[in-house]
Amino acid sequence: MDLGIKGRRAIVCAASKGLGKACAMALAREGVDVTINSRTRDVLEATAKEIRDATGVKVTTVPIDITTPEGRRAVLEACPEPDILINNAGGPPPGDFREWDRDVWLRAIDANMLTPIELIKATVDGMIARKFGRVVNITSSAVKAPIDVLGLSNGARSGLTGFIAGVARTTIKHNVTINNLLPGYFGTDRAMSTIKAQAEKSGITPEEAQAARIKTIPAGRFGQPPEFGALCAYICSAHMSFVTGQNFLIDGGAYPGTF
Ligand code: NAP
Repeated sequence: MDLGIKGRRAIVCAASKGLGKACAMALAREGVDVTINSRTRDVLEATAKEIRDATGVKVTTVPIDITTPEGRRAVLEACPEPDILINNAGGPPPGDFREWDRDVWLRAIDANMLTPIELIKATVDGMIARKFGRVVNITSSAVKAPIDVLGLSNGARSGLTGFIAGVARTTIKHNVTINNLLPGYFGTDRAMSTIKAQAEKSGITPEEAQAARIKTIPAGRFGQPPEFGALCAYICSAHMSFVTGQNFLIDGGAYPGTF
């Protein structure tokens, strides 16, 4: 299927590894020029080369922290008129809420709630004027089924989800949609560090924790980042102009609810 986005421009945040990288690669395979960002320059440049070699699209790199005002400014300077915005950042650290003070909470809210909101604020009116826009926020299955050690993520991302639910209904008449993608367990660096934290909390080995986690996933395995990237690219496609404010779970069937 032709997704109808060849020649479009995308910003993909936090995209040198894992899910962000998979989204950038999937969009690039559809002919989208991508501006990718992450903090570690050499890893980001290696990813950019991999995407260019695989797809031939224009890949621009911005090695900077996206959760800072300077970071967002630099990314927007590199791609001032994106048609597609993929919001992503590292997740907050796991832990016990008794140890989190106001500053820890503000860092999580800055990274996982206010950064996507700021980037939407900076880009959505241009998308509206050009009559095409796709925003995808990478959140977490923890928005629907909270994970105890990830209280900072549960809280900050639910705040973002509530905000998006309102604003997404105001832009769709201009062919600008805003949706959330909720990963369950994917075999990325981030997932492995969460499993390690859960293992430490439960007094078992990371291998035991990993096996126990896989047992909770009806698919019987962790997700693979390209599966995530493919759904992201489809949500960004020309065909998805009638869908906004939705939360797409991609978790191998792990969420047990009917709705
Ligand atoms: P990952 O494999 O660890 O990759 C994270 C990427 O984000 C890296 O490229 C990293 O590069 C970049 N990054 C982190 N903090 C950044 C910042 N402040 N500014 C710019 N770039 C930044 O993680 P992932 O598994 O893809 O996770 C992506 C998001 O999905 C996270 O928010 C995570 O919590 C969430 N999530 C993941 C899963 C899962 O199973 N993987 C499940 C639920 C939710 P640098 O470190 O060099 O900046």
